[in-house]
Amino acid sequence: MSELKGTCPRCGSTNSVDLGNPTIHVGKTRQARVNVRECTNCKLVFYEAYEE
Ligand SMILES: [Zn+2]
Repeated sequence: MSELKGTCPRCGSTNSVDLGNPTIHVGKTRQARVNVRECTNCKLVFYEAYEE
């Protein structure tokens, strides 16, 4: 059920590199931990939900 993990939202490539798992601010008080990835095909940097 995780075949879309790391898939680029722009070009659909599944080749991406992990840039880390920072905590970002969502709104004024909420925070969320995300997984930052960079597509090796089109160089788009995108976020996806971090799963422990
Ligand atoms: Zn891409």
